Amino acid sequence: MPSTPSSWTPDTVAIERDLALVKRLRWSYVVVLVTLAALTIGGQFAVQNFIAEQRDDARTINVAGRQRMRSQRLTKCLLAWQFAPDAAERQAYLSELRGTLSQWEAAHRGLWEGKAEGGLSVTHTPATRAALAATLPHFNAMAGTLRQILATTDATGAVRPPSAEQIQTVLEHQAQFLAAMEKVVDQLEIEANQRRLQLQGFGWAWLVVVLGIFSLEGIFIVRRSLAQTTAVIREISLARDRLAGLNQRLERARDQAQAAARAKSAFLANMSHEIRTPMNGIIGMSNLLASTPLSTEQSEYLETIRSSAQSLLTIINDILDFSKIEAGALQIEYLPFDLRECIESTLDMIAEPAGRKRLDVAYLIEDHVPPTLISDPTRLRQILLNLLSNAVKFTERGEIVITVSAEPLNDQTSLPEEGARERRQYELRFDVRDTGIGIPPEAQERVFREFEQATEATARTYGGTGLGLAISKRLVEMLGGRIWFESEVGLGTTFHFTVQCEASPSQPRVYVRGSLPAVEGKIVLAVDDNATNRRVLESQLRAWHATPILASSAEEAMRCLRGGMKVDVLILDVHLPGMDGPALAREIRKQPAYAQLPILFFGSTMEEPIKAQIEAVAPAALLTKPIKLTSFRRHLEELLAKRTEEPSTTTKPQFDKTLGQRHPLRILIAEDNAVNRKLALKMLEKLGYQADTATDGTETVEAVLDAVTCEKPYDLVLLDLHMPAKDGLEALREIQQRLPATHQPRFVALTAAALPEERQAALAAGVDDYLCKPFTVNELVTALEATQPLTRRTTEQQSA
Ligand code: ATP
Ligand code: MG
Repeated sequence: MPSTPSSWTPDTVAIERDLALVKRLRWSYVVVLVTLAALTIGGQFAVQNFIAEQRDDARTINVAGRQRMRSQRLTKCLLAWQFAPDAAERQAYLSELRGTLSQWEAAHRGLWEGKAEGGLSVTHTPATRAALAATLPHFNAMAGTLRQILATTDATGAVRPPSAEQIQTVLEHQAQFLAAMEKVVDQLEIEANQRRLQLQGFGWAWLVVVLGIFSLEGIFIVRRSLAQTTAVIREISLARDRLAGLNQRLERARDQAQAAARAKSAFLANMSHEIRTPMNGIIGMSNLLASTPLSTEQSEYLETIRSSAQSLLTIINDILDFSKIEAGALQIEYLPFDLRECIESTLDMIAEPAGRKRLDVAYLIEDHVPPTLISDPTRLRQILLNLLSNAVKFTERGEIVITVSAEPLNDQTSLPEEGARERRQYELRFDVRDTGIGIPPEAQERVFREFEQATEATARTYGGTGLGLAISKRLVEMLGGRIWFESEVGLGTTFHFTVQCEASPSQPRVYVRGSLPAVEGKIVLAVDDNATNRRVLESQLRAWHATPILASSAEEAMRCLRGGMKVDVLILDVHLPGMDGPALAREIRKQPAYAQLPILFFGSTMEEPIKAQIEAVAPAALLTKPIKLTSFRRHLEELLAKRTEEPSTTTKPQFDKTLGQRHPLRILIAEDNAVNRKLALKMLEKLGYQADTATDGTETVEAVLDAVTCEKPYDLVLLDLHMPAKDGLEALREIQQRLPATHQPRFVALTAAALPEERQAALAAGVDDYLCKPFTVNELVTALEATQPLTRRTTEQQSA
C-alpha cells in the first residue's frame, strides 16, 4: 500500500505570538534610542551652560580682585599728590586719582547690581550679596571723601591738597574696604568651586543614567531579541529538516503515483484489448445478422444491440484516450488535411441522430481560412465530434451551427515570397452553437472535469460518462489552444475552442471557390426557413458565380415564382413550416413554366414516406443536411447538365457478393477466438470468398507452407496478433524466413490492441496492413481490394 506522507503544518498561533513580541521589541528599542538621543542633547546643553557660568565666575572674581587693587591705588595717588614736589606732578596724580576713582566706582556699582565689566550677567547668592553689602559703607565713605576733595579742587580752580582729616578717613576706610572685598572674593571663589563640583556630579549622574539605560536595553531588548532570533533560526532549521523529509516522502509518493498511473494505463490498455475482442464478435455478428431476412421486431432488437455495442465501444475508447492523456502517452500526429473534409466527415457522424430530432445542422468557414492545414486531423475530429454529440444530445429543437475563423499568428510582412500566406501560422477558432437546454450557471465550472455532468438528472435522462469535455479540453490544450463556452439555460450553449496550426501549401478547391461552368450565371432559388442555411447557400452560390434568390418560406417562394421569374434550379428544404418541401415542389411543378424545373432537396431526416414523396417529384435529388459542398456541387452540376446518372448517395449494399469473383483471392484466417474466426469467415463468405482457417501460430505457419507446396499459395493472411503457442508476429517471422519473397502472402493484422505503439511495432515487424477490432465491412473490403493476387504480384515484380 502506498504510504501517504504525514503532513506538517506550521504552528500559526506561535508564529503570531512571536511576531507580536518582535513588534513590541522594536517599539521598545525605538523608545530607548529616542531617550538616549534626548539625554545626549540635554547633557550637551547643560555642559555648555556650566562652561558659560564658569567663565562668568572667573571674570567676576577677577573684577572683585581688581577693585582691591584700585582702592590701594586711590590711596597711593592721594598720598603721592599731597607730597608731590612740584605742581605738574601734583596735577598728574590728581588726574590719575580722578580716572581711577571713576573706574572703581563704576566697577563696584556693576558688581553690586549684577553687571560686572564686559556685560557679565552675575547673579549673586545671598551670601555674596551680604559680603558685598559689607563693603558698601567703606566704599561710600571713600568715594564720598575723594569726590569731596576733587570737588573742592575743581570749584576753586586751584590745586589744593586734601586735609589730614580727609586723608585719615580715606586711609581708614580703605583698610576696611580691602578686608571686606577680601571676603567677597573668598565667597565668589567658594561659590565657583561649588558650581564646578555640581558639574562634576551632574556628569557622573548623567553617565550613570546612560549606563543604566544601556543595561536595561541589554537586559530587556537585546537579550530578548537575541533569544528570539536564536529561537527563530532553530525553528527555521527544524522546518527545513522537516520539509526535506516531507519532500523525500512526496518524491516517493510521486514515484509511486506515477508507477500506479503506468499500471493503470497498462491495465486499461489490456482491459480495452480484452473487451474489444468479444465486441468484435458482437458488432460483426450483428452486422451479419442484419444482412439476413428479419422481421421488423427482430430488426429493432438487432438495432438496439448494434447501437448499444457501439456506445460501449465509444465509452471504451474514451476511457482509453483519457488514461493515455493522463499518462502523457497520447501522441499528436501533425499531417496536412483538408479542413472542410474534416468538418464534413465529422458532421456525417452526427447527421443521423440530428436528423431524427429534425435539428438544422450547418457549418460556415470564413473566407480567409486556409483550405488545407497542418495539425492532427484525428484529434480535431474527436474534439468536434464530442462537442457536436453534446449539442445534438442536449438540443430538442432548433439548430446547431459550426463557424470556423482564423487569425494569423505571425507577421505577414516578414514573409516576402510569393505564397507566403500558405506557410503562415494560424490560430483556428471553432464555435459550436446549439439551441439546447443550456448549462446552469452553478454547474458551469464542473463540466470540464472528468466524470462530471451538469446535473444528476443529466446522467439519468441523457446518459454519458462525463468524459467527452474533459478529453476535448486536454486535446485542445495539446493542440496549442483553449476551450470555453457561454450558455444560457433554455436558450442554448456555444462552445468555442482554438487550435494553432500551420497553413499547408494547397490549390484552392474548386468546390469552394472559382467558377463551375455548369453553374455559372444560373439563377438559383433557395428556400429554407433556417437563416444560417440560407447564409451558407447564398455565400456558396455566389462563390460559384451563380445568382442566388433566397426565400424563407413556401409562401415567399410562391410569390417569387408567381411573377414568372426565370429560375434555373430550385433548392428546397424538406421541412418547411406550413407547407413542406415535397408539397411545395408539387405546387410549383403545376405551373407550366416550371414543370421541368430541376429541384434539389436538402433534408435532415430520411423518413421513408418523405423519401417516397421526394422520389416522386425529383428522383435522386435528395441531399442530407448539413450542406456538404462536395455533394452539393456534384448534384447541382448533374442537375444543370441534365445528367441522369445514379447519384452516389444511394447506399451500396453492405455486402457485395460479387467481390470474390471480380477480385479473387486465396485467404487464410489465423485467429484463435472461435467467434471471431467464424465472424471473419462469414463476412468473407458474404463477400464471395471461401477462406481457410488456422487456430494458432504453429497451424498458421504449417498452412502457409503446405499451400506453397501444393502450389496454391495464399494471397492474404488475416493474422490475429495475439494467439497461443506462437503469436502472430512470431509466425510471420518464421514464414518470412522460410519462404522466398515471391511466395509470401500479404499479411493484414487483426487485433484488438488500439494503442498506436502496438500498431507501429506490428508494421515494423513486417505486417502490411492493420485492421483494428471491431472492424467494419468497408474496412475489410478496403484491405481485400488492396491485396493483389500472388501470381499477378510475381509477374509485376519479374517484369519490373
Ligand atoms: P460523454 O461525453 O462522456 O458521453 P457527457 O456528454 O455527459 O458524457 P461531457 O461531454 O463531458 O459528458 O459533458 C459534460 C456535461 O456538460 C454534460 O453531462 C452536460 O451536462 C453538459 N453539457 C455539455 N455540452 C452541453 C451542451 N451543448 N448543452 C447543454 N449541456 C451540455
Ligand atoms: Mg459528451
